[in-house]
Amino acid sequence: MEATAYLVHRFIMHGPGWHWHRDHHQPSLGLLERNDRYALIFALPAAVLFIVWPGPEYTMWWVALGISAYGLLYMVFHDLVVHRRGWIGRWCRQHIPRSAYLDRLVNAHHLHHAVQGRQGAVSFGFLYAPPPERLRQELKHRANQRDEYRV
Ligand SMILES: [Zn+2]
Ligand SMILES: [Zn+2]
Repeated sequence: MEATAYLVHRFIMHGPGWHWHRDHHQPSLGLLERNDRYALIFALPAAVLFIVWPGPEYTMWWVALGISAYGLLYMVFHDLVVHRRGWIGRWCRQHIPRSAYLDRLVNAHHLHHAVQGRQGAVSFGFLYAPPPERLRQELKHRANQRDEYRV
């Protein structure tokens, strides 16, 4: 699921689907974002699998459970812990104990948001966060590439 999330984020959300993802890279305007539509899209395959294979005796039921578990983790860490959405997000940020892993995950996602545009962003995955030093170098490299294209 992490690989799927990486690929969808990098090549769809920062590609032809940017018009839905754009507002997530800009200062928040309200409780809901156009980007939240992706959560519904991602829930669709799991919902279909649960309906077609409605029991744990089927392999695809476990696949649906895996998709759902990843979605839940993504929502808790991305929307609540990193972006502190709503009062639940503020509560989570204060009460979930900090760890080296969580700090790295939060840093990596903030570095993803360092770029407001569609191109030049880094760290498209989520539960695996590359080292921040590597991401900062990659950001600089991509910014230099953009400058070279402008000249
Ligand atoms: Zn993004
Ligand atoms: Zn984000």
